[in-house]
Order: sequence, then C-alpha cells, then structure tokens
Amino acid sequence: DQAMYLAKQGGRNRFHLFDPEHDRLARERTERLARIAQALRDGEFVLYYQPQVDMRSGRVAGVEALIRWQHPQRGLLPPADFLSVIEDSELIVEVGDWVIATALAQLDAWQRIGLQLRVGVNIAARHLLHAAFAERLQAQLADFPEVAPQALELEILETAALEDIERVSRVIRECRALGVSFSLDDFGTGYSSLAYLKSLPAETVKIDQTFVRDMLVDAEDRAIVEGVIGLARVFRREVIAEGVETAAHGALLLRLGCDMAQGYGIARPMPAADLPVWVGQWRPDPGWRSAADTGD
Ligand code: C2E
Ligand code: MG
Ligand code: MG
Ligand code: MG
Repeated sequence: DQAMYLAKQGGRNRFHLFDPEHDRLARERTERLARIAQALRDGEFVLYYQPQVDMRSGRVAGVEALIRWQHPQRGLLPPADFLSVIEDSELIVEVGDWVIATALAQLDAWQRIGLQLRVGVNIAARHLLHAAFAERLQAQLADFPEVAPQALELEILETAALEDIERVSRVIRECRALGVSFSLDDFGTGYSSLAYLKSLPAETVKIDQTFVRDMLVDAEDRAIVEGVIGLARVFRREVIAEGVETAAHGALLLRLGCDMAQGYGIARPMPAADLPVWVGQWRPDPGWRSAADTGD
C-alpha cells in the first residue's frame, strides 16, 4: 500500500521495516483477545444446547453444547464471531475448560430433575493437545461425582484430528480410559477421512451438515453420506447426521441406516432452561418414519 511504497522509496528497499497495516492488525488482535478474556471473567459466555435424537426410536439421546457470547452491546454472538481469534491462542484452553465445567454442571443439574442426557462438547485441537489434557479432565470430572464420565462426549474436528493423528489418538485413548467418549465432527470435510477413520479411536462420526443439506438434490453429496454411513458400519462407529432440517432429510437418513440426527428440523440450539420443556413436548416421530416406509 501507500505507506509501504513510500517506505520503500525513501528507505533503500528496506520496506519490511515499516508496515503500519501489520502493526494495526497485531494491535487489534491483542485488543480482541483482551476483550474476550474479560468476557470470560465477567461471565458473558453461555452454552446453548441442541438435542440429538435416535433415528429409529425417536428417543432424545443427548445434546450438543454450543457456546454463545452474550455481549452487553452487540447481543447474542455466535462462535463464528469470536472463536477463530482465540483458537490459536492460549485463551482457547481457558474458554474450553470453562465449557467443559459448565456442561458438566448442567448435566448434574438435569440429573437432579430426572433428565438423563449425554452432552457433546466441542474441543479445539490446541486445547486437546495442551499439556496434561486428560489429567485436567479427570480433575474436572471429579468435581461432579454424580455425573458418569460416559455422559460426556468430546467432539473434535476431523480436520484437526488429521493434523497430528499420533498425538491426537494418544490423548483420545487417555480420555477414553476415564470413560469419556469421542466423536469426529464435520466428518467428510477432511481429505483422507476414509483411510484414517481406521486409526482414530473415536466411537462416533458426525457427517458434516453441508453434505446432509444438499443430499436430496446433489447425487455426489448423497454418495458421500451413503459412503460415510457404510464405512461407519464396517468400523462399528455410530453416525450422527448434522443439519437435518426437514422430514425428507430424516426419512432418507433413516433409510440409509443413520443412527442419530441433529438439526433445525428437530430443534434449534436453546438455553439450558428451555430443554426440560422441549424434551417433554418432543414427539418421537417427526414424520420421517412414515416417509421412509413409503420410500418418499
Ligand atoms: P459444529 O460443532 O459442527 O456445530 C454445529 C453447528 O451447526 C452449530 O452452529 C449449530 O447451531 C448449527 N446447526 C445445527 N443444526 C443446523 C441445521 O439444521 N442447519 C444449519 N444451517 N445449521 C445447523 P454454531 O453454534 O454457530 O457453532 C459453529 C461451530 O463453532 C461449531 O460447529 C463448532 O465447531 C464451534 N463451536 C461451537 N461451540 C464451541 C465450543 O464450545 N468450543 C469450541 N472449541 N468450538 C465450538
Ligand atoms: Mg460439534
Ligand atoms: Mg459439525
Ligand atoms: Mg462445523
């Protein structure tokens, strides 16, 4: 840009010495990180919960915890607005620990009112690979002795798992020894999914919502969905489809042998306080079983 051009003109080609744009971006990032750290201290983060249902029985099997920032001026912010800034900083460890602790406390509270659920918690790769992750998880579980570790499922991005498959697999095994289970999130978006599924010790794969969304109109996406379900069966993994928006999606997924479903067609992510009422009102057949029978 112009400042760099001038620096180059006046500075015998040593144009890297003066780059106000780079400086400005670095300062902005530091400020945003500080603001997010402050939000954590001030309790501005909240978890929303989105139900996951068993496709054959219609039973509510669990929920996925999804972080939101209740910003005092800007309102309720989705993770896309703030997670990418912290995902490559140490702050992701603090935020991630808060998410785990909050989800466990919520499970404990639901259990006390007779609601037995499994909760899926998204974990960033940097958090999972942070020193002594499994030991700290064990300590967090010990804070909630009434909550079974089996009720906690950690979701890691398939793409992140593939980056360092050896270390990720080791941490997964350490956590599984505690009773915690794993799912591979956004499955299908990585390059080598099929070959690597064999070596990743996760119980569940979550088919990415982009494939599910378009599978009714796009033959290639449908083939990917079928492929993932078929592969999961061979490797004895559970399959959750994300982005199930209509009964037609549900019917096709059920016909293809998908185990679980999550999506706006079942429920949008909601505050914890709304979940008991939603579970009470949920009707186990949202139209997809009858549609699947007639082959619609
Ligand atoms: P994800 O884990 O793949 O979560 C699913 C996302 O899809 C959520 O977006 C959810 O609200 C949205 N979704 C669910 N059903 C449907 C549907 O039927 N249609 C459409 N169009 N979207 C649907 P959200 O809450 O904005 O989260 C986005 C991503 O942010 C998550 O993707 C996850 O990767 C990340 N994330 C969310 N919470 C956390 C967290 O606590 N920690 C970490 N590390 N990442 C998180
Ligand atoms: Mg997820
Ligand atoms: Mg996903
Ligand atoms: Mg995603």
